[in-house]
Parts: sequence; structure tokens; C-alpha cells
Amino acid sequence: MALHWFPGHMHKALKEIKETLSQVDVLIEVLDARIPYSSENPEIAKIRGDKPCLKILNKFDLADPELTAEWQAYLESERGVRTITTNTGEPGNTKHILSMLKDMFPQKAGPGKAIHAMITGIPNVGKSTLINILADRVIAKTGNEPAVTKTQQRINLGSGIILFDTPGVLWPKQENPNSIYRLAASGAVKNTAMEFDDVGFYAADYLIKAYPDVLKDRFKLDEIADTEIEFLEDAARKRGAIMTGGRVNLHKICEILLTELQAGKLGRITLETPAMLEKEKIEIAEAEAKKAAKKAARKQRFKDGSATPDKHDRKEKRNEKRAAQSKRMRKS
Ligand code: GDP
Repeated sequence: MALHWFPGHMHKALKEIKETLSQVDVLIEVLDARIPYSSENPEIAKIRGDKPCLKILNKFDLADPELTAEWQAYLESERGVRTITTNTGEPGNTKHILSMLKDMFPQKAGPGKAIHAMITGIPNVGKSTLINILADRVIAKTGNEPAVTKTQQRINLGSGIILFDTPGVLWPKQENPNSIYRLAASGAVKNTAMEFDDVGFYAADYLIKAYPDVLKDRFKLDEIADTEIEFLEDAARKRGAIMTGGRVNLHKICEILLTELQAGKLGRITLETPAMLEKEKIEIAEAEAKKAAKKAARKQRFKDGSATPDKHDRKEKRNEKRAAQSKRMRKS
């Protein structure tokens, strides 16, 4: 599963962001409160440097309030970072962003002065809706289509705040494979038919551990099974997702689960926690170290002439492929 990723386009957008960033007082990053880490663009985090940053955790109405508080504390532990939750269904509260900016830059308030801010966010996070609320008018979208030339927008929000909206498709280039699944589970990345089941299994695996009671209620189950496949089978039977011949329709139940999750019908659910992220960071670092060590060993074997460089590798790849295949078969 891959996100649409346009290196050339992204490069240009990032260059523009970097230039704008050097001219503004603050970076406003719009995040999805259900996935504050996975909805961030890691490329922007890299170029932010010491620039003050306001992270907006939008779609708070869909997120778990307790975990959101945890995320806010975690994100604010980074220097120069402040956070605020928003739900664009409540424009009054959303406007607090303006008073927060004024709080952050008291020296920039007053006649003849202005706070300059740059706003970024991955597609579908609610950036346009937020901007329209802040500006009190409908601002034309910069557009999310690749290959369309876009120019940066300068939006005067009034009351001494100027906003620069960044153009371009800013899909995050996620190094963490879990993030791609969470982006898909939240609905930020639209599910294609092929990916539906994978994402559904991923979501089910997380939800049976993190929100068993929610699932019990929603699917009217007495118990939640220990594995995602058993849970999905139970849920499918409850919802009549059965094929002719009586077998459960896993594709259908995955679709039901994801649609209801994304619409907030399961309740307020957050799909990642700071603790999960810390654990994954360690796993990714370990996997990378292992990969580097393997590469070095392969090179050494080649240098020594003790083995053809790829033989060992091919065998491992074959084993990995077999394991993946049998996992898939177990699921279907
Ligand atoms: P953009 O691509 O980041 O500009 O996102 P949009 O502003 O077009 O919003 C994408 C979708 O998210 C729309 O269907 C919005 O109605 C929805 N949306 C935006 N903000 C919120 C929010 O706070 N809560 C919920 N539940 N939906 C929101």
C-alpha cells in the first residue's frame, strides 16, 4: 500500500514552504486529532527548526478526549510548540486560534503591527474549513490536484493576523508503515477496493485491544474475541455480512467497520497514542540497524569472495514471501 507521492512536485512545494517559513512568525500545522502523529508531514517537521509552532488538533469531535490530552502534553513537550483542539462544527471555539496566536506573540499585537503565520496540513484534514471560519468568508481552495500550478495565498484574517496558505499536495512521506494504515483507517486516505480488507484487519486488531467495550456495544457482542479475524467473523454474523453458502463476507464487514469508524458511529476514537509511537520508533530504528548490518555483511562476503552476494539474500526473501503468503491465506 502506498500513498500517492510525487517527488518533483513535493520538492517544489517544500522549497516554497521553506522560503515562506523564514518570513513568518509562526507555523500553524493542522493535524487530525485521531492521528496527531500520522497526519503530520515529517518533511515539514524537519525544516521547521526553531520556528514557533501551533499544532491544531482538528476533528476533535471524532477523537478520544483522554488520549487527545495525552497527545497535547506530548506534543507540547517539544520546544516552541503549543496545541489547541478544534471542531469546525463549532466555529466559535475554532476562533480561539486567533486569541491563542495573540497570546503567543504579545509584542506583535497593536496598531500597525501584524502576526504572520503559515498554515499547512495534509489533504482532508479540514484546513480549508478552518481557514474559512478564521477569515469569516469562503476562500478558494489552493487545490489538491497534482500538476496544477498553484500560487501561495495571502489571507488577511483581520485583527492583525496575516495567514499564508501553502499550496501543493503535501502527503506525508511516512517512514512508519503503521501510519499509512492509520491514515487509511481514519479516512484521510481513501480506501481502494484492494486495500479495504487490509485496513479493516488493521483497524480491528487495534480496536479489539484499545476499545473492546465500544465494539461490544456497537456490534451487540457478549465477548470480544482475542484475534481480529474472529472478531470480524462474529461482527459479520451479527450484521448479516454472509455470502451465499453461509461463509462470512470479510470484505463487507471490513467496509462496515471502517465506514462506521470514520463517521464517528463507534464513538470518539483515537487511532494512535504517544506510547505506541515511542515503541514503533524503537522498532523502526532496530529494523534499520539490522538492514544496515545485513548490507555490510553482504558486502564483506562479496569482498572475501566467500559467497555469491545474493544467495543468502534470495533464500531469506523466499522465506519472507512464503510467510506473507500463508498469513494472507490464513486471513482469507
Ligand atoms: P482540506 O482538504 O484540509 O482543506 O479539508 P476540508 O476543509 O475540505 O475538509 C475535509 C472534510 O473534513 C470535509 O468533509 C469537512 O466537512 C470535514 N471536517 C473538517 N473539519 C472537521 C471537524 O472538525 N470535524 C469533523 N467531523 N469533520 C471535519
